[in-house]
Amino acid sequence: MATMGPAVADLEAVRGLVEAGMDVARLNFSHGDHESHIRMIKWIRQAAAEVGRSIAILQDIQGPKTRVGHFRGGSVDLPQGASVRISATGEEGGPDLIPVDYPRLLDDVGTGARVVMSDGLIEGRVTGSDSEGLTVLVVRGGELLDRKGIAFPDSDLEIGPVTEKDRLDLELGRKMGVDYVAASFVKRGEDISHVRELAGGDTPIIAKVELARAYQNLDSILDQADGVMVARGDLGVQLPMETIPNVQADILHRTNQAGLISITATEMLESMVTALRPSRAEVTDVANAVASGTDAVMLSAETAVGRHPARVVEAMSSICVEAERYRDQQMTGADAIDFLESTMTFASATAKAATEAARNLGFRTIVAFTESGGTARLLSKYRPSADIMVFAPSGRIRRRMALFWGVTPIRFEPRASTDLMFAAAEKYLEKEGVCERGEGVVMIAGTPPNTQAKTNLVKLHVIGERLRASWRAGNRGRR
Ligand code: PGA
Ligand code: MN
Repeated sequence: MATMGPAVADLEAVRGLVEAGMDVARLNFSHGDHESHIRMIKWIRQAAAEVGRSIAILQDIQGPKTRVGHFRGGSVDLPQGASVRISATGEEGGPDLIPVDYPRLLDDVGTGARVVMSDGLIEGRVTGSDSEGLTVLVVRGGELLDRKGIAFPDSDLEIGPVTEKDRLDLELGRKMGVDYVAASFVKRGEDISHVRELAGGDTPIIAKVELARAYQNLDSILDQADGVMVARGDLGVQLPMETIPNVQADILHRTNQAGLISITATEMLESMVTALRPSRAEVTDVANAVASGTDAVMLSAETAVGRHPARVVEAMSSICVEAERYRDQQMTGADAIDFLESTMTFASATAKAATEAARNLGFRTIVAFTESGGTARLLSKYRPSADIMVFAPSGRIRRRMALFWGVTPIRFEPRASTDLMFAAAEKYLEKEGVCERGEGVVMIAGTPPNTQAKTNLVKLHVIGERLRASWRAGNRGRR
């Protein structure tokens, strides 16, 4: 996944990202206006069409991030040991007053609570309060700029999951047909349902886990979301930074076990915002995320404002390929999913059977047919060692599948029977050089075809064998 921004603000640059291996384009609605997002969406759609790949667009809404207000002169210096006031009365800020945009400050933030500002740069602790605001002791000092983030990791803020801006942005996303929505600063499962409704009901929702509360409520979030992003930027402000590696592993594990899409985000190849090569630690971070079972890895500033966006995508792609080669040799590992209980139990069992058959027989390709994309997601979560080629009639569904691990979406006209579907797929795979004559593949489908029927059929198939089989059948008919 790559975040769009000024560094890729024309068709050619976007096409460069697609050619370098981007599957999902992230539009960050914390920046830019509607006009710039609309332009970007058109470039992404056009670049995808030119390169001939399905690319998903993910709309990342800003969500209810709390921010400080304006200071006289644009910023204020907060030295360590200073005592300052935080108030929601709407006054302009100064050296001893920090304005915030959260009216329930006094109700929700108690004495002793931590206050973290400017992405963790500055930290304070509440020492007391009066009718006008909180008194805060600065524990770690720094310069605080206008409109920077302010977080209260120990406090339960009564803040709705979407702002007025988010509503307007979701309306635009709906109109433009974005493929995913990522919801920022959600606290619990209900927040996801709220965003889902505003997004139109049918768009899959990715929950960004970036509040301490969200991590505590992960189970309720997993109940409602289609996927989860480990948003390490804000999460690293909310939780002690040394806990982030374990928290990441735990979120990925639980998300995968729930059969949902997992994404690891933020500062993955950060040094490449300027440098031509990543640090060894960054390479290891990306590879470790893959080894921990993440479906997707995300680039932020690296592609949005970085110096050489396409090169970063290439680097990330090659790290993933190599990490997965090693993972394949390991076959399963501790994180293997036994059986995904879902509403689609037939599809789940079929996908699991296909994964095992391909592994046991050393087949390189699993073929699936899907109307809704559900079968493809399940297959993907079982992490087959074979490539997953998924034939789907709907462009919308094919774009969604671009976010699934290991899935190649393929355009497909519906056929009248599973035999005709298999034959058409086989022809395509041979023509495109994906499979050779005589090679074995696993095919799964639902019968009767072209309905949202449960995937219920596994066929072990040898490429080219169909011809002989139908010839024999024909012969027998004549005899
Ligand atoms: P952001 O979210 O880039 O929108 O802040 C990701 C994160 O917090 O890590
Ligand atoms: Mn964030």
